[in-house]
Amino acid sequence: MTNPVLVVGSVALDSIKTATADHRDLLGGSASYASLAASFYAPVRLVAIVGTDFPKEHRQLFADRKIDLQGLEEAAGKTFRWSGEYEVDMNNRRTISTDLNVFETFQPKIPSAWKKTEFVLLGNIGPSLQRDVLRQMDKPRFVVADTMDLWINIAKPDLVALLGEIDMLVLNDSEAKQLTGDTNLIRAARAILKMGPRYVAIKKGEHGCLLFGENNFFSIGAYPLEEINDPTGAGDCFAGALIGSLAQRGDISFEGIKRALVQGTLVASFNVEEFSLRRLEKLTMDEIAKRQREFLQFGALEA
Ligand code: AMP
Repeated sequence: MTNPVLVVGSVALDSIKTATADHRDLLGGSASYASLAASFYAPVRLVAIVGTDFPKEHRQLFADRKIDLQGLEEAAGKTFRWSGEYEVDMNNRRTISTDLNVFETFQPKIPSAWKKTEFVLLGNIGPSLQRDVLRQMDKPRFVVADTMDLWINIAKPDLVALLGEIDMLVLNDSEAKQLTGDTNLIRAARAILKMGPRYVAIKKGEHGCLLFGENNFFSIGAYPLEEINDPTGAGDCFAGALIGSLAQRGDISFEGIKRALVQGTLVASFNVEEFSLRRLEKLTMDEIAKRQREFLQFGALEA
């Protein structure tokens, strides 16, 4: 039986504008994307909070993917809302608004039967909440954390403390530069590793990802796509498929992480094809395997 993964993060209602579309109140949030992505590889235990306005069909979507919702708290108030706008060049995104709502008073409570979960993804939420979750866990085997520019700006001491408590950090290139003050990604990665984690993965959007750790280095391209409709959540899907794949194989060596990065890259590439979680909702393992074979022909390693 595959090891389960525990995923904590935001469950959100997102409003997203692109050059050609404008959608309101879509299912989003770091934990939603990450949980669905991880569910292709391992049983998922979701820890997050929603308000009383959270639509039943979204809950059903998680349940359909066998995501355990014991840790999804419903509180009086509104669900976290985020809105953003992409430029014609989808690499550029502007946050229009962030309404914390029920997140303002969120105190994650890990169900006691989940405290021994060995594989943990601390999806993107404030680093003090991520640390709260870790404090409740009983010696997890592998902890991956994601973060974002906002926390580097407003909660850096907490984030730095978190780095001493995790096995792997996933962040994008501009965040790595911002966190370390170094514009060279190799030096930035070295500086991050000195802060605590054994591994760091630096994502470069459509240019793929770099992995550092154990005096080793690995670079993987992104799956080439001609049409991207909504890049939201690509990073969360990457992290979700990564932890799911690690839990499935149980191999946390550098080689094991390389293989998990391939799965992260593949699932993220599907996610950006459609808005919200619509592509992941109907994605199959066969489609992932087919894309993996194509990816291999482009030079990626066997996963
Ligand atoms: P990404 O595209 O990987 O940066 O993730 C986008 C998702 O992050 C959206 O679905 C948002 O709901 C969620 N998000 C945006 N800002 C925050 C925040 N401050 N805390 C937690 N989740 C957030």
